[in-house]
Amino acid sequence: MTTITNHMPTAELQALDAAHHMHPFTAGAELAAKGARIITRAKGVWLTDSEGNRIIDGMAGLWCVNIGYGRKELADVAARQIEELSYYNTFFQTSHVPAIALAAKIAELAPGDLNHVFFAGSGSEANDTNIRLVRRYWEIKGQPEKRVIIARKNGYHGSTLGGGSLGGMSGIHKNGGMLAGIVHIDEPNWWDQGGDATPEAFGLARAQQLEQKILEMGVENIAAFIGEPVQGAGGVIIPPSTYWPEIQRICDKYGILLIADEVITGFGRTGNWFGSETFGIRPHIMTIAKGLSSGYMPIGGSIVCDEIANVIGGAGDFNHGYTYSGHPVAAAVALENLRIMQEEKVVEHVRDVANPYLAKKWAALTDHPLVGEAKLVGLMGSIALTPNKATRARFAGDQGRVGYACRERCFANNLVMRHVGDRMIIAPPLVITPDEIDVLIERAWKSLDECLAGLK
Ligand code: PLP
Repeated sequence: MTTITNHMPTAELQALDAAHHMHPFTAGAELAAKGARIITRAKGVWLTDSEGNRIIDGMAGLWCVNIGYGRKELADVAARQIEELSYYNTFFQTSHVPAIALAAKIAELAPGDLNHVFFAGSGSEANDTNIRLVRRYWEIKGQPEKRVIIARKNGYHGSTLGGGSLGGMSGIHKNGGMLAGIVHIDEPNWWDQGGDATPEAFGLARAQQLEQKILEMGVENIAAFIGEPVQGAGGVIIPPSTYWPEIQRICDKYGILLIADEVITGFGRTGNWFGSETFGIRPHIMTIAKGLSSGYMPIGGSIVCDEIANVIGGAGDFNHGYTYSGHPVAAAVALENLRIMQEEKVVEHVRDVANPYLAKKWAALTDHPLVGEAKLVGLMGSIALTPNKATRARFAGDQGRVGYACRERCFANNLVMRHVGDRMIIAPPLVITPDEIDVLIERAWKSLDECLAGLK
């Protein structure tokens, strides 16, 4: 077989890709018909594809490349670590410096008494860990019947069987079923579901569904509640201001463990190190991944509070772990990523460019005839496309048709924006500059105009 390289013609790469490579969340027939867009290199916020196009990445890959692409420091650290200790595990009372140093750094950055880290290879794995952690915790506490985890419809917590079950996406549940003992309440999505209520009243009502579910199922059966501070894959649903305080009150009142899935919102995305700080949430466990290594290495984990870590640690073995829990190369790269974030004040930069610079331009998108709502927190935002802003109407026909068309226009205009139904979303690398924000917004307007013209 010939060697496959970046220099091969795009059509040949696409044919090989369609023939042998099964893609996540991609329709195989569509892939075979259209061919994948093949990305060959990247620097900062810019991608290059096999046709030589320069594309601005409005999604930081999959919400992960927080410090931008192509930082040499991370390559150097990975190379050094591979030479020094390419692999060792952290099972059976062994450890190594990269895992020790990374856990200590995460404990320093995390709020409250979130002082302990259980490493995983991804966000999905970390959420699977969380299911075990909370059920084991209650077992040791003498309440083994506390097993139910309450989550939200249209939440996303990964696509392993555990992560997919915690998530509230029916498309995922349909592919392989669900774990028992996980139930879902409605999401705080005011634009789509708020009706005549004010956002504040709606946020409160949606949070109160947690209390109703606890009472319906019996508090003696409930282990935990899990939620993303801002639903990411669900369409960047920024909850009304009343939502999280009420969830926190209910968790406190009933002694329910609170898991904040910070896989997207962690490491600066919302303008603080963690989304929990932005929304005033005090979780017992945080799920992390993505921005932890800026996507340079696959690594995730659960940051666990003193009480849970002490109870589980004090009771003997926790029979759980992954070959790559705390992988030394991934841990060393993540540590270097966090060092760069601190040294270059990346979280402060998010606050500087997000508000008012991007926030003003983002809000102005509502002047476009297609755009109803435009919401932003830190550097994650969404716009809702609608045929009627006043009534928050949906487009006739298939939901997501217009969003998909707009996404395709963005792609043609060398901008990566994702669509979730008829919402368009962004989460660019956190190092994006004001000039690059201008390019992003300019291309978004152009794509919206073309999308609108295509509807007529
Ligand atoms: N949790 C949240 C909030 C996510 O957004 C994601 C991925 O997008 C995950 C968990 C799953 O992470 P991974 O894809 O690394 O398994």
